[in-house]
Amino acid sequence: MTPGRPVPPPLAQTINPVADGGVLAAAYGATSGDSGLVPLTVARRAPKADDVEIAIEYCGLCHSDVHATRGEWGNQSYPLVPGHEIVGTVSRVGADVTDFEAGDRVGVGCMVDSCRECGSCLDGLEQYCENGMTGTYGAKDRRNGDTVTQGGYATSVVVDRRYVLRVPESLDPAAVAPLLCAGVTTFSPLRHFDVEEDDVVGVVGLGGLGHMAVKLAKAMGAKVVVFTTSEAKAPAALELGADDVVLSRDPAAMAAADRTIDLIIDTVAAPHDLNPFFRTLRVDGALFQLGLPSEAMPPVNPGALICRRIAYAGSLIGGIAETQEMLDFCAEHGVVADIELVGADQLNEAYHRMVAGDVKYRFVLDTGTLQAPAKEADA
Ligand code: NAP
Ligand code: ZN
Ligand code: ZN
Repeated sequence: MTPGRPVPPPLAQTINPVADGGVLAAAYGATSGDSGLVPLTVARRAPKADDVEIAIEYCGLCHSDVHATRGEWGNQSYPLVPGHEIVGTVSRVGADVTDFEAGDRVGVGCMVDSCRECGSCLDGLEQYCENGMTGTYGAKDRRNGDTVTQGGYATSVVVDRRYVLRVPESLDPAAVAPLLCAGVTTFSPLRHFDVEEDDVVGVVGLGGLGHMAVKLAKAMGAKVVVFTTSEAKAPAALELGADDVVLSRDPAAMAAADRTIDLIIDTVAAPHDLNPFFRTLRVDGALFQLGLPSEAMPPVNPGALICRRIAYAGSLIGGIAETQEMLDFCAEHGVVADIELVGADQLNEAYHRMVAGDVKYRFVLDTGTLQAPAKEADA
């Protein structure tokens, strides 16, 4: 240590050993379900033949990060660096990579690998890989020994080129980050339902996913009705482009919406009763549930589904080709997320505010605020 040079604060833990040519990335993550987010250091492998090394610039804060870091979905391994809405620039590529080069602006979403052989993978539905997709964080890295993947609240990441997306240059990179999860997760069911001009789309919950559902459905030409529990969000929903707002806790307002909606995208992060929402659907309507609360939901009344041939479905993010299609669609229509940029020291407060519904509509971490890893951590 040079005399007089400030001593960097000790980093809580280094995740994984640094192998030849690999780098240490400064990161923030959880060391247990109640640790909150603390500074960590994560070792990234040197790019293998098909790998792309990315200098991360921005990473969105998804409610799934909150569920995972707090262990709300159970069976969580720690330490855990969350973050699966990653945008950055390519810093190095492996010997066999020809489709990306240093300096390209790229993104990584919720998965970094899958088996590449099963029917789902071959159909471009890698998120439904029959052998289990590899999540961007907290998953066993199937091609890298015993390591567990670690996410994007970090200064760099290394990902196989097949799971790296091209970010259109015309879009603000910080505001693109949330498209990598919130964007594609809402785009996919809208496309699966074949939403077109004049369809009526209901969006339940105006958070990160919900506000993207509003923007994407509008860009597809649909009429959009927002269902919210927060009266204060009504004017903001209209500003976002919604055609109508219904306060979902008001039984009279819900009754007035009877048989008005073709497709509902439900993004609520907590248990709630779906039956009043089924009554707003027309014959052959569908409700896609995207939120994954940690506790059980009230039971669905089969009669509500049967009497209007309503489909009750779930949907998980989107495939890699579909994620690229969504990014290109967003470039064509000028769609990005509405974001609040935060520094590393604001992450814990941002989580509290997200759970309280106090964000318009997505926090994004500026990774330039992460502290450079101490050299001592190499040991
Ligand atoms: P978010 O920004 O926190 O938004 C959730 C919204 O749900 C809130 O803004 C709020 O909207 C509504 N809500 C109503 N009651 C709530 C309550 N008691 N607690 C929390 N929220 C409540 O979350 P997000 O990032 O959009 O994620 C939403 C859910 O989707 C999470 O469960 C997440 O894990 C899940 N998710 C699923 C996928 C997938 O592939 N299926 C992908 C990403 C995320 P109002 O104030 O308007 O009522
Ligand atoms: Zn997410
Ligand atoms: Zn597969």
